[in-house]
Amino acid sequence: MQGFCYTRTVKKARLLEQAKEFYSSDQVNQLERAIDIAAKAHAGQKRKSGEPYLTHPLMVASFLVDWGMDIDTVIAGVLHDTVEDCDLTLEDIEKGFGHDTAFLVDGVTKLGKVRSGMHDISSYLPKTKDNLTKFLIAIGQDVRVVIIKLADRLHNLQTLQHLSAEKQQKIARESLEIFAPLADRLNMGRVRVRIEEISFSYLDPHRYRYLKKQLKQRLGRFSKKLDSVREQVTKELTKAGIKHSMVGRIKSAYSLHKKLVKTEQNIDAIYDMIALRIIVENKDLCYQVLGLIHALYTPIPKRIKDYIATPKQNGYQSLHTTVITKEEHIVEFQIRTEDMHDYAERGLAASFHYNEQKLNDAYAKGKIATMPANLQWISDLQAVAARVKAGEEVDFEKLKVNLFSDSVFVYSPKGDIFELPVGSSPLDFAYRIHSDIGKKAYAFKINGKIVGFGYKLQTGDIVEVLTRRSVRPNLDWLKRLKTPQAKQKVRKELKNDPKTSKKP
Ligand code: MN
Repeated sequence: MQGFCYTRTVKKARLLEQAKEFYSSDQVNQLERAIDIAAKAHAGQKRKSGEPYLTHPLMVASFLVDWGMDIDTVIAGVLHDTVEDCDLTLEDIEKGFGHDTAFLVDGVTKLGKVRSGMHDISSYLPKTKDNLTKFLIAIGQDVRVVIIKLADRLHNLQTLQHLSAEKQQKIARESLEIFAPLADRLNMGRVRVRIEEISFSYLDPHRYRYLKKQLKQRLGRFSKKLDSVREQVTKELTKAGIKHSMVGRIKSAYSLHKKLVKTEQNIDAIYDMIALRIIVENKDLCYQVLGLIHALYTPIPKRIKDYIATPKQNGYQSLHTTVITKEEHIVEFQIRTEDMHDYAERGLAASFHYNEQKLNDAYAKGKIATMPANLQWISDLQAVAARVKAGEEVDFEKLKVNLFSDSVFVYSPKGDIFELPVGSSPLDFAYRIHSDIGKKAYAFKINGKIVGFGYKLQTGDIVEVLTRRSVRPNLDWLKRLKTPQAKQKVRKELKNDPKTSKKP
């Protein structure tokens, strides 16, 4: 009993300590009140790890503080599981903490069902049009709901070791297929990488460990060479009177894995395993630095990217260039301002900074112009949410929503979700599961009905692959495939199979 209380107070104290740095004393008092209410509501409940349940909402809230979210969001993080799991009502929350917090808790509750600390995402993701609608409206009404869900998922991933192997796989896959892309669409780079790394380490532990080792080895070999490049560049920039900071950034295991799939597994063809990131005071200086680097080293023509003039769809901005040094080392540089850097790491969360209460209020009132211009899709959703609220009929089919517009989501018969590019065939899906299943595929069932190899997968399809040992890949298969990974595997199989390779 004593141990139980002890853990709880320590965690509470730590969160309050963390919050004191960023919020007013009034706000911290509110937060403390919320923690006490959550502690009472979750009293006696335990996580699968055996820890008091309260550790979970406190960790979620702690992430939200760390991401620089406003106090309403942090408090909603503390209370996010209380309505679903406990006797607390939304009215209680509204009375105690205001409309915004209650709205956020309601949004998070509606977005997922809580089952022993896990959320079943398939209950609200694009499985059916109706659920997709709900999901999109939730984002449009208040994107902070999604940010709380990301914090929730991140902590669930961090405590995944306590669940069964089957659940681990399921949750890791969902996270990789949905939550990581979602974080990416919001340009929350740091969160995306954390979600990807944990998920990948569960889905393919061997590969994960192998790539980690490769990165470490190469980093060791490369860092001395890099030091001299750093020195040269620092000297040039200082000579030109440009104030700057420079850090090395190492590729994550999962993004290395993705790149290796693209480059057909040639690890030596990957030039940005380690990049040098230069942060300067303003945009003009970014271009100036680029010029200086190109004067110093030979740039590789096709690898110069100006994401400042043309930001990525998620709003990411930077100049990228890959150069060959005099010692013939290949080095990638990323040049950006402090603001661009902050935005790349924290993404949309950066817009809800505790210091920017004004922007927050404007956002809450549905003033669309306050959204970063590059996240047009959120502005679009806000407009739609407003129309739905006003009782208008909205045809979601006609909406161009960029969120997942280039993907379809399909399910295995067991209910595991897979994200594939639009236009993928059931054969792509088969290869995605395993190449042994792909190469033996002879028929497919979509939602229980047999379809041909030419079928194009639709979001919500449940795909079953029928296999036969005698089946062999043939040249026609290449025409049916959309994903490069599957094509690559088929090509390899055709090469290894003397019977098929002789055919024209
Ligand atoms: Mn939760």
